[in-house]
Amino acid sequence: MKDIRTLSLDQLQEYFVSLGEKPFRAKQVYDWLWSKNMHSVDEMTNLSKDLRDRISQEYIINPISVDQLQRSKDGTIKNGVKLHDGLLVESVLIPTETRTTACVSSQVGCSLNCEFCATARLKRMRNLEVAEIVDQVALIDRQSKLYFGRPLSNIVFMGMGEPMMNYKNVVESIRKITEPEGMGMSPRRITVSTSGIPKMIKMLADEDIRVKLALSLHSAIEKKRNEIMPFSDKFPLTDIMDSLKYWYEKTGNVITFEYCVWKGINDQDEDIKALIRYCKQIPSKVNLIQYNPIGDGKYDQCNKAAEDNYVRQLEKAGITVMIRRSRGGDIDAACGQLANKSSE
Ligand code: SAH
Repeated sequence: MKDIRTLSLDQLQEYFVSLGEKPFRAKQVYDWLWSKNMHSVDEMTNLSKDLRDRISQEYIINPISVDQLQRSKDGTIKNGVKLHDGLLVESVLIPTETRTTACVSSQVGCSLNCEFCATARLKRMRNLEVAEIVDQVALIDRQSKLYFGRPLSNIVFMGMGEPMMNYKNVVESIRKITEPEGMGMSPRRITVSTSGIPKMIKMLADEDIRVKLALSLHSAIEKKRNEIMPFSDKFPLTDIMDSLKYWYEKTGNVITFEYCVWKGINDQDEDIKALIRYCKQIPSKVNLIQYNPIGDGKYDQCNKAAEDNYVRQLEKAGITVMIRRSRGGDIDAACGQLANKSSE
């Protein structure tokens, strides 16, 4: 049977009219599905019992379920989330003093091959459905209320997968999360993180959704970046920059560059100079992400002196730089560690 959440509002309307029902039934059901995140037709109390039975004969709802929940000492919650076909992804709740951020997955596994990332070692199994992405957000919103007494405030597409490789569903999920008839969250609180596919960055810039964009750079030296992120030899840094300029023209939103500094890999002055030259081309800021080792010994967080050197030189060049300390490291919830360890 088909999941009722694959129907648009228009299609729901057609369906109810075909049953001889009033068109406004579609809005009621849409509200249960996309605003209230209701997973049971039987609990849609403003519909008659007959109508609920009729819907249930023709459609199902495939919710995600929490397979395993782990809490870190720092409050971070990692959910091992089970999909209707038994596959697993991970969704993380990251609390700070004032915010709760949901880090959501967009694919089961990943088709890219970033050498330093644990998810890259999993085969890409499939793209997540719109409802599977929205369900992760709704789940973390409920957990935030339960454990921290406040709703979810921010969403980052930084879990498993490359959002731009599941473009259609990611964009549609953002519509459901932001539209007033859905969850009504502000798009300014949503960040899509990409390893850099120029064509898709431009396409996202042309959508009528104004999310933030983060680009996983890690090196502004072409040859080096291609070694660290081999798939990117198809996407020259100049093409990526063109797409970012397009993004900025269209949205007016500053780009965030995500950047790990690794010992013996990109911790030298020449790396910093290249980064500064790259950043200077566009309104942007740099997030230095603390690296979480994935156990092969090749990539290691640089020492404090190298990090300080980055910060000093970037600031001197007038570039905003933030250091992002890792969260949830004790439960392997930190970025790049979402490799379904628990299911192996
Ligand atoms: N595919 C998207 C989103 C998922 S990764 C992207 O590449 O942006 C989210 C961020 O975590 C990226 O910046 C990625 O480079 C970074 N990352 C991956 N593995 C990491 C690790 N082990 N430690 C720290 N950051 C990591």
